[in-house]
Amino acid sequence: MPFLQPETPGRPGPTPGSVDYRFARRQLLHRFRAGELDRTDVCDAQSELLRVGHNCSQRATAPCPVCGESQLRLVRYVFGPRLPAGGKVVAGRAELRKVTEGRVGARCYTVEVCLACRWNHLLRVDPVGRQPA
Ligand SMILES: [Zn+2]
Repeated sequence: MPFLQPETPGRPGPTPGSVDYRFARRQLLHRFRAGELDRTDVCDAQSELLRVGHNCSQRATAPCPVCGESQLRLVRYVFGPRLPAGGKVVAGRAELRKVTEGRVGARCYTVEVCLACRWNHLLRVDPVGRQPA
């Protein structure tokens, strides 16, 4: 599943090379709550993302910002050299460490998805494993 470029470039995250998309998320939710966007505009998770959210994700600590249900999941995809073009799904931090050990130039995309209403948003992109000098 290729990732489309987000509408905003995000902002630098706490780790060098990481990008945080929380501001873009807040903007999108603000537009939704203001009535500028329909629920179908923001709750459009593809079936593959929902499947991964069901089977290979972490439960989020917060409820869904759209429907309020506790079905919000965090899905992590790792992209990098010698990984599948659609990314490698990792279930948690232990698997993330295993997949990225010794790997150079990989990035982890963390996406939240609600299994109840299909809300989804890219939260952050982090460099993982060894980074090229
Ligand atoms: Zn929801």
